[in-house]
Amino acid sequence: MSVMNFAVIGYGGMGSYHVHTIMPEELIHVKGTYDCSNERQVISEEKGHFIYTTYEEVLNDQEIEAVLIATPNDSHKELAIKALRAGKHVVCEKPVTLTTKEFDEILLVAKETGKTFMVHQNRRWDPDFLIVRELYKNKQIGDLFQIESRVQGANGIPGDWRHLKVHGGGMLLDWGVHLLDQLLFMIDSPVKTVAADFSYILGDEVDDGVAAYLTFEGGEKVIMEVGTTNFIKLPRWYIKGTDGTAVIEDWDLSGKMIQPTYAPDVLAPTPIQAGVGLTKTMAPPSEEATKTLELPKAEAEYTGFYQNFYDVVRHQAEPIVKNEEVYRVLKLIETIFEAGETHQVLPFE
Ligand code: NAD
Repeated sequence: MSVMNFAVIGYGGMGSYHVHTIMPEELIHVKGTYDCSNERQVISEEKGHFIYTTYEEVLNDQEIEAVLIATPNDSHKELAIKALRAGKHVVCEKPVTLTTKEFDEILLVAKETGKTFMVHQNRRWDPDFLIVRELYKNKQIGDLFQIESRVQGANGIPGDWRHLKVHGGGMLLDWGVHLLDQLLFMIDSPVKTVAADFSYILGDEVDDGVAAYLTFEGGEKVIMEVGTTNFIKLPRWYIKGTDGTAVIEDWDLSGKMIQPTYAPDVLAPTPIQAGVGLTKTMAPPSEEATKTLELPKAEAEYTGFYQNFYDVVRHQAEPIVKNEEVYRVLKLIETIFEAGETHQVLPFE
């Protein structure tokens, strides 16, 4: 099994993470890196990498079989098309492009050249998502009819280019693309309607947060939320099924599931004082009425992404991240932008 020679384009936060953390040495050899910033070139050189001084130099290197594109979002299209035309396979960071029109252009060239183009939708391997997917498939709390997926921070929009529209900044394109990719990958019915609300609290020209409300033909209702001004955050996942409720607090996988016991002779809940009133409806259920369960286990090897890319290129395996799936997510993102701008509930699919 011969290793695949890669060049890494953009040795910033994510490019260096690929090199040092994700790319399995037994499959991938990083022959060199190229970054348009001199500072990043120096840092990469200090790490012992060969430095390409221009992108053309990468494209002309016959030993390079594939490139990783890990540059700001607006540059993906041009870099990808050039690489495909130079006969290279491409791994591209998310979001693949800013519009479906741009993605169409890449797909056309990938088809013409017969080269593999695959997007790094790595959060399909996130352990918290794998648990939710397990719940969805195996129905431990019944059919999931309300799924709330949230990531919330309090540090504002990070870095430089993420603040600017021209570079494809903003949180829908940054984190939203991950959460939507997970949801569409998991839920096996078409999206019916889309509503959305963006936040611009920090005064940037791009969104610093977004909430999208999706309904699916299968009956699922989804809230997808990204925030960067949340000093107190809500759980990563809150899920209601026809037979219980599950919560996953965070990436540390803390959380639980609570199910009804359906025990006969369950005592009615004792009314509680709530504010200035009394309630039985909102009182905690009596002890014998529910049981608390641990979240199911679900694991996957993260190196699966590059293993799959390697197998797609070398052995014509089926890609785990399919371009048509990525396209559907991008189309949904376009609809979310439109729904937010027009304050309308829009049909989808
Ligand atoms: P970054 O700013 O840390 O790094 C980008 C690097 O690209 C910089 O070093 C910059 O100098 C370089 N660059 C810019 N334009 C270039 C060009 N035309 N040619 C060569 N180099 C160029 O940004 P980042 O956080 O690493 O993000 C890069 C990409 O990775 C983005 O598309 C982002 O959405 C994605 N990303 C993905 C994940 C994930 O989990 N999949 C996480 C973070 C970032």
